[in-house]
Amino acid sequence: MLEVVTIDGPSGSGKSTVSKALALKLNYNYLDTGAMYRAFAFEVLSKGFENNREKYIELLKDFQIKFHYNDDGSQRVICNGKDVSDLIRTPEVSMWASTISKEKEVREKMGYLQRKMGEAGKLVAEGRDMGTIIFKDAFAKFFLFATPEVRALRRFKELLEKNISTDYEEVLEDIKRRDEQDSNRDIAPLKPADDAVLIDSSKLTVEEVVNKMYVIVMEKRQLWKFM
Ligand code: C5P
Repeated sequence: MLEVVTIDGPSGSGKSTVSKALALKLNYNYLDTGAMYRAFAFEVLSKGFENNREKYIELLKDFQIKFHYNDDGSQRVICNGKDVSDLIRTPEVSMWASTISKEKEVREKMGYLQRKMGEAGKLVAEGRDMGTIIFKDAFAKFFLFATPEVRALRRFKELLEKNISTDYEEVLEDIKRRDEQDSNRDIAPLKPADDAVLIDSSKLTVEEVVNKMYVIVMEKRQLWKFM
């Protein structure tokens, strides 16, 4: 077993906020795998390679990513030496990250980097395939979800706070399109692991979700350590 907690779920389910808070509470590191796909998507878009599969697959060879963590739990994403944290949250990058993450070569590279980052243990890893594929042996797994409308409203508010102009209907459409794309792809489709605990965050506060998870993690860790 790995000392890893996985949190998977669709976009806007509250994964990032909850994962960061849980990692802080457990004194674990936090791994945002969506940021990795986003950073790669951004790299491809900025090079103008989005319509040239051969060229963007080539970019994977030199793709490097690092996370810098601040004491308050926030992170900076450094891709190929450049801080891209504020550039990878736009609707365009979101959509392209979802499109590009269907590619086998892209998933293999990200999976390799993610497992390396998980080797040291004490990690909360969030994404779409953490419990099903990348960290199958994690000792605690969660699948966080909420209705598309609740998720769209959360994402809409987040974008407003970042001064990214958009409208609610557009965000809702994006969420539904990404759900469809992420859930129906051939490789690593978004779905809960058989041994994941399912949590509906639609009517829960962040604190309630984190506390629920924390109790489960402590119980599972106790059991696992006595095995
Ligand atoms: O979680 P986030 O919305 O930042 O992820 C951006 C996109 O990256 C998702 O829509 C999904 O297609 C992809 N992704 C993935 N596997 C992961 C994490 C993210 O395919 N483990």
